[in-house]
Amino acid sequence: MRARSGTRADAAWLAGGWLQGATRCETPNRNTRPAQMPIDLVVIHSISLPPGRFGGDAIEQLFTNRLDCDADPYYPRLRGLAVSSHFVLRRDGAVLQFVGCDDRAWHAGMSSWRGRGDCNDFSIGVELEGLEGQAFEPAQYDALADLLAALALRYPIEGVAGHEHVAPMRKLDPGAGFEWRRLAAALGWPARYFPAGTVAGG
Ligand SMILES: [Zn+2]
Repeated sequence: MRARSGTRADAAWLAGGWLQGATRCETPNRNTRPAQMPIDLVVIHSISLPPGRFGGDAIEQLFTNRLDCDADPYYPRLRGLAVSSHFVLRRDGAVLQFVGCDDRAWHAGMSSWRGRGDCNDFSIGVELEGLEGQAFEPAQYDALADLLAALALRYPIEGVAGHEHVAPMRKLDPGAGFEWRRLAAALGWPARYFPAGTVAGG
């Protein structure tokens, strides 16, 4: 589902699914999505490097294979990792983009959503700078709601899930500090767009 020309989708997006106004940090950690694959899921993550320390440019370095893995005791475990996300939302709401949304970023790993495996094929990854389980900043909710609204103009988004929901045996992010109700309210999207039990009922 592509919006007609002359609508807001064209104002928000550049060719390939690059968001107008986002800081562009291109990475080779991407590939082509399977043909005819609808891009209908957004996966929310949290990340900070080292964990719990905000600011700095270690996330950009990791996602572009430039992290000095000797720079912190936590980093050796990241050596050789080739990962990425379409977006990173900093604590102040600044939006960084690493992969055009038409392409496949490497954020979800082994995963499944509503019966379909390998979520990287059909999802857009959004990393919130933060620590899983802890709170996120109001500016990040504002930026995330704006981003999701813009994504829904260009892609047939059917749902938003946490990494913890699509890889429940392996992952805990973004965790209990992420306020799904707050995001749902900001967007005005119904509960069926969100993981079971996070917004209303079960
Ligand atoms: Zn994650």
